[in-house]
Amino acid sequence: MAQIIDGKKMSAKILEQVSVDVDEFKERYGITPGLAVVLVGEDPASQVYVRNKVRRATEVGIRSFEHRLAANVSQEKLDSIVDELNRNPEVHGILVQLPLPANLDEDKIVDAIDPKKDVDGFHSLNVAALATGKPGLVPCTPQGGMTMLQETLGDLTGKHAVVIGRSNIVGKPMAALLLQANCTVTMVHSRTRDIAMLCRQADIVIAAVGSPKLVTAEWIKPGATVIDVGINAISVEGARKLVGDVDFATVEAVAGAITPVPGGVGPMTIANLMQNTLKAARLQQPD
Ligand code: NAD
Repeated sequence: MAQIIDGKKMSAKILEQVSVDVDEFKERYGITPGLAVVLVGEDPASQVYVRNKVRRATEVGIRSFEHRLAANVSQEKLDSIVDELNRNPEVHGILVQLPLPANLDEDKIVDAIDPKKDVDGFHSLNVAALATGKPGLVPCTPQGGMTMLQETLGDLTGKHAVVIGRSNIVGKPMAALLLQANCTVTMVHSRTRDIAMLCRQADIVIAAVGSPKLVTAEWIKPGATVIDVGINAISVEGARKLVGDVDFATVEAVAGAITPVPGGVGPMTIANLMQNTLKAARLQQPD
């Protein structure tokens, strides 16, 4: 049976450290790190994510600013809110919860955020920094996945990692971080031929697809480490249940280590958001 990589426990440790570091920051600079969260529309999953992010921020001593906007808000209004937050010295991190309603230009909004306040790490300049190995703000979910891998396996040099999914927010930055950690990286996606064969060669499998239980035991080399990023709501006998992209029950029997859903990558994402907010606050100080 695989070792369960406990995201709740690991993230609690990170949050404890962030809380200590936030206190030190406050003492040194006499200011409180601030995180602004912008939520557009009524998407239930986004509402839960935003609520959790705000709650965690408060717990670690970060001040939060919430902006809830109607789904039909204009691009101009959203632009002006981001502009205000960019100029507000009490706000060190800005997060616009994605996805945005279809009438709004997501790329434009993300690139309107001051890169130093871009705690999601989605701004083009932060994406370029990650791709070229320069310092910047790194997306929270892939960063969380990396922490889980390094805590479980130690040095990742030479390991073959297969990343399933090529999104800008998970798959691509995950691949960049794995490359930086000296892994051999294969990216597979919806157009890839024979994904199962490619996955079976992997020491590490990262699933970031959004397809319930896509990855089964036949895809996994015995002893491999499996990071399940997927969060999918399914209905089991009429009850709503969250599952990952990995068929946990069968894969657990083959893998060496595996993250559960829920309680895996999800809590790590929020912990890394708090780390990024503090990092952003530091970046904005004069020395
Ligand atoms: P996305 O829809 O932007 O991208 C999905 C990717 O999967 C695409 O690149 C696509 O090519 C690939 N894909 C689709 N079908 C495939 C198939 N059959 N085989 C192989 N690849 C396939 O999704 P995303 O934003 O990257 O999110 C992926 C999943 O991760 C979702 O379930 C999302 O909810 C979850 N997620 C979790 C966290 C977290 O904190 N745990 C954060 C972000 C996203």
